[in-house]
This record gives sequence, structure tokens and C-alpha cells, in this order.
Amino acid sequence: MFKALSQLAKTVKPFVTDLFRTPLSELRERAHAQAEIDGRPKVFFAPIYVSNECDAGCWYCGFAKGSDITRYTLTIEETEAEVAYLKREGYDAVYILTGSTPAGSIQEKESMTERNARGLRAVARAGLFPIMESSPFTLENFQELLEAVDGRGRYVLFQEVYDQTIYRKNHSPRDPFKGDPEARLQQMDLALRAGWKELGIGVLGLNPDQETELAYQCAHQYYLRDAGAELVTISVPRMNPATGVKTQRRCSDEDFFRGAYTLRILCPESPLVITGRETPEIRNQLWPVTEIWGVKGATEPGGYVTRRAPQDGQFSLVDRRTIAEIIRDNS
Ligand code: SF4
Repeated sequence: MFKALSQLAKTVKPFVTDLFRTPLSELRERAHAQAEIDGRPKVFFAPIYVSNECDAGCWYCGFAKGSDITRYTLTIEETEAEVAYLKREGYDAVYILTGSTPAGSIQEKESMTERNARGLRAVARAGLFPIMESSPFTLENFQELLEAVDGRGRYVLFQEVYDQTIYRKNHSPRDPFKGDPEARLQQMDLALRAGWKELGIGVLGLNPDQETELAYQCAHQYYLRDAGAELVTISVPRMNPATGVKTQRRCSDEDFFRGAYTLRILCPESPLVITGRETPEIRNQLWPVTEIWGVKGATEPGGYVTRRAPQDGQFSLVDRRTIAEIIRDNS
């Protein structure tokens, strides 16, 4: 699959380069004009980390195996309490996340699939839109998970970085799943085959060659749409500090804006996702071109009401405004 994606990315790259070298003010105007044509409403979401137990060792993540944090998995009651809190706060959608614990690893008492399924069920039962962001799953797992939400939900999985050399440098080949970039790419195909029609992709900014990564993101989006996805969201994160993580690569603010504007123009059918990793000032500037907004999210299990693993988030958030404050600041 990676070969097909690379071919497609090569054809997209000149368009990315052209936009990336356009003066920023002109690029912004074009992106704003495109967003106005698209006219999509804003969607506000928060994550619920059902568990921070993880067998993988991604160096950039606070949940990596061996990281000195409190490990915890929410019970069904605690998950429901977290969902009820987000419902009361006026959120539209909830991301359900867990660490990567494939069968036979540290958690034998409950499979990763069941752990995710009970989170998704709780979100769907509360009338919020369920989004799942964990891996790896088999075709059967994906089918079971889609059944848990009665066929209505979204599967999100960041490739993290499309450059395979950089990918391998950042992930240990000893990791049961995460070490293989091709296997990670295949997760989207499996999800599609299982019937997940809404998907989400993203990268972490590990590759200094931002234009190439943008070309891959566009290509991946086109590829998935051709393969039958009805919607493909694209996340635009930059990494923030996390427990136990010393070094992280972050592109400049200007390149960050360029990336978001370029995606808005080249992938008009894809809603862009932005989280509270960015400052209020930067988020306000990107308000016109981004549709899916992470708000005040807790990045540790039980971060809203259960409070089991305080201070041990997957990464830190900067924008702590409420939904009402964000709307007020952008009206
Ligand atoms: S990024 Fe995901 S798989 Fe990697 S250590 Fe963090 S939680 Fe585990």
C-alpha cells in the first residue's frame, strides 16, 4: 500500500510546493475563501482515555512503556461518568482512546477491543458522536467495534509520520505492532473493509520536510475517498511536552499556518481537526479554516471527574478555554 501512496504523493507534491511558497497573506485569503465555500459547522470534542496502559515505546509519548506514570484503566461506571460530564458541558463528539495492548500482552483480563467498545457504547448511548483512536485491530475487531456504535462512528489513526526511515527511527522494531509502518497504514483499509465509512488521519510533525508530509496526507485522503470512505478528517497537531519526554520537534508558527491553509485548499472535502495543544491566539487565527475543535480535554484516564491518574497526561494542553469562551472570542 505504501508504494501506491508514494506514487500518488509524488503527483500531489508540486501543488503543495506551489502553495507552500505562496506569500502567507495570499495563502490565508485563499484558504479562508475555500472554507467559506465549504461552509461546514463547528464540532466540539474532547477525548476520554479509557486506559493509559500501553505496550509500545514511542519516545514522543507520555504513555510509552517504561514511562514513570500511574497506569489506570477506567471501569464502565467511571467511563460513563466521564461521558456524562462531557454531555453536560455541551460537547458534540468524544474520542475514545486507549494505549496499544494487543492480545496476549499486559492486559489479559480484558481485550483492547472490549475496552474500546465499552467506551464507544457509553458515548453513543449519551447521544454524542463516537470517535475511536486506538490500534491495532483485526478485521473482526473492527466489525465488532462498529456494531458497538450501531454503524455510526469514526475511526481515526495517525500515521505519525509518512517517511518510513523517520518512522522506523521513532518506533522500535521490537514493538509488537507500532514498529511496522506498513501494518499501521493497513489499519485504515481494515477499518474500511469492516464498514467504517468515516475515517481520520494525521501526522505529528516528526519530518522536517513538511511539504512531503503534506503531500502524503493529501494523497492518503484521496486514496481513502477512492476506496469508499465517505469522510476523511485531517488533524493538524504539533507536539507538546509530556511526562518523561525530553525532546520534541515543532515546526514554526508560520509553517504551521501554511500547513493548515494548504490542506484546506487541497482537501476541501476534509474537515480539519485542531486541539488545545495550540495557544488561544493561534487557534483563533485558524478558526475560519478548521472545523473540528478539541476543547479543554483531559489527556489522562479519568481526567474530568474520576481523577485517577492526575498529572500523567499523554501530552499537555495550552488552550484551556471553554466552548462558550471560544465561540465568544471568534464571534
Ligand atoms: S503513541 Fe500510542 S502506541 Fe505509542 S506509546 Fe503512546 S499510547 Fe502507546
